[in-house]
Amino acid sequence: MLGLLFLLLPVAMAYGWFMGRNSVKQNRHNAKQDLSIKYSTGLNYLLSNQQDKAIEYLIDAFQVEDDTVEAHFAMANLFRKRGELDRALKIHEHLVRQKHLPSKAKQQAAFELGKDFLSAGLFDRAESMFQKLLKSKDYSNKSITYLMKIYQSTKDWPQGILLAKVIVKSRDKNLLHNLANFYCELAVLALEQDKFIEVIELLDNALKYDADSCRANWLLAKIYENHQQYNEACLCYQAIYQQDKEFFPDVIEHMERCYSKLDAIDEFQKFIRKVYNETGSSSALIKHVDYIEQKHGVAKAIEFTLTALKRRPTIRGFNHFIKMQMASDSNQTNLTNLDMINELISTYLSVKHRYNCRNCGFNSSTHYWSCPSCHDWEQMKPIRGLEGE
Ligand SMILES: [Zn+2]
Repeated sequence: MLGLLFLLLPVAMAYGWFMGRNSVKQNRHNAKQDLSIKYSTGLNYLLSNQQDKAIEYLIDAFQVEDDTVEAHFAMANLFRKRGELDRALKIHEHLVRQKHLPSKAKQQAAFELGKDFLSAGLFDRAESMFQKLLKSKDYSNKSITYLMKIYQSTKDWPQGILLAKVIVKSRDKNLLHNLANFYCELAVLALEQDKFIEVIELLDNALKYDADSCRANWLLAKIYENHQQYNEACLCYQAIYQQDKEFFPDVIEHMERCYSKLDAIDEFQKFIRKVYNETGSSSALIKHVDYIEQKHGVAKAIEFTLTALKRRPTIRGFNHFIKMQMASDSNQTNLTNLDMINELISTYLSVKHRYNCRNCGFNSSTHYWSCPSCHDWEQMKPIRGLEGE
């Protein structure tokens, strides 16, 4: 009897295995069928333009499988690209709620949801999403970038400065540059309230985080000049030249004023000659030519300008050349003609933009520290080329 039992045991095991296999197969088949129904129903809704219902079905169809996360992200991105934010939001919110997802996918979902909130103008909700990701290895820097964008839009400079520690840790040059501008914004506010010590501290911080912040030196120079500390102001203007040669033409007038207060115009001209040789800037050329005229007469100045314009023609340089010709010519007919040319060129120049954003190409007659179009900091600089510097 016992021998018979032993004989039947493998048969029982084989039967159990067979039935079990069939049962798993059946479950899988049912799940597949269910998924397929939901998927095709979702697709039908999508094709018949009932997209909200389609999303519900498609989300439901995919929700149990971790390996369908990418499909969710792709679908949400598609909606976002089409400007259908509410739908993208729905999918990302659904992903954030999935507790079983791997950590990386969860962080990605939270990050994308933050972007959705930001695009929808829901700053506080976007901020909360990005704040949660500050310790994430993959999303920390990206989240700080978006947080800084939020604080820039809301002009919440102190809140942005609270991120200084994580920004320093990130070593991201762009973020440090943005942080320096937040300090400059606070410095401008402190300056309006005549809190000079605070202003200097804020600008020192700006330069600590971004040694290339020419805006911080520009503000410092203004303060030094207002306090008749011309030597310090001149040093700041020199630093601006080292930091940003393209922005420098805008400080030439201020720099000259400070050097003249120090009775050091020759030293200023030496610096300007160097600037002209290195950059060919039309503002530096005009300043230098004026000096030649004072020192050696208009004929020498005209000769220098002609050589310079042949080498690098600019309309501003040519306009100055016409003005010098008028000063050296006594013939009435010539003077009338030159005056007409001068007026034409001046009118032409007055309608031309002075500044151009190096990041997005936005043109403006006014200077902004933050580009009104792309909001990048310190990208508006004098236009280069024939019609500019
Ligand atoms: Zn721009």
